[in-house]
Amino acid sequence: MNHIHKLGIAVLVASCILSFKCESLPDLGGLTGGGASDADMADLGTAAFEDLKKKTPISSDPRANAYVRCVANSILAVTQDPTGVKDWEIVVFQDPSANAFALPGGKIGVHVGLFPVATNQDMLAAVIGHEIAHVTKRHGASRMQSGSLAGVGVGMMDKMISADNPLKGTIMAGIGLGAQYGVVMPFGRGQESEADLVGLDLMSKAGFDPTQSILLWKNMSAAGGSKTPQFMSTHPSNENRIKDLQANMNKALSTRAQAQSLGKRPTCSP
Ligand SMILES: [Zn+2]
Repeated sequence: MNHIHKLGIAVLVASCILSFKCESLPDLGGLTGGGASDADMADLGTAAFEDLKKKTPISSDPRANAYVRCVANSILAVTQDPTGVKDWEIVVFQDPSANAFALPGGKIGVHVGLFPVATNQDMLAAVIGHEIAHVTKRHGASRMQSGSLAGVGVGMMDKMISADNPLKGTIMAGIGLGAQYGVVMPFGRGQESEADLVGLDLMSKAGFDPTQSILLWKNMSAAGGSKTPQFMSTHPSNENRIKDLQANMNKALSTRAQAQSLGKRPTCSP
């Protein structure tokens, strides 16, 4: 475990250099970056999710599943997705590491190990809103054409991961599942900031308490030290994260008040 942790940090440092490069890419104005189509990204996200489901036990706990579905469906009900997802699939994984993710093609995974860090429905909504934002803002696509994946057609990658190609771990990391495959490719700072703000808006529109997003990130940091949450390896924090959330909190609170006046008052129980 310790060895994997050290390896993860080494790869994290290497990937940061890579992600700084990505940040210098021009703003594509919502267009899919890296030449990948939404359909190709959806095929890849679906193949990656199927692979993860084969290697990671799925929780059959009805309470945990109902809880995650309640939060995720509340957010999806107010999500505008330009990538063409028809049905979102939501799976709770019996994995003790604190992590959650969303993939192109409409796949949401939550590890049971997230519950001790995201301790109420609003914090879980902050995580899921952030993850859905990475998908709707197409943050995976540009990463698929950088580093050792440059020149590999995204349309081929779903077949490459099902055939256990040597690039499988890197492809998984590019799509957002690196930690589970021993390869970490963090989202860039710009992508993290965007996912934070879009996520804050989504959770507020769904009627969740946006102030809990700040407590969530504080919990994530506090859980560091000997046992850094797996989520933090792919979603690196920075000193501006909480400041930016605070700067947008008044707007988020009025969005939430409006949502609640429309009857959006989620009561999802862990
Ligand atoms: Zn993120």
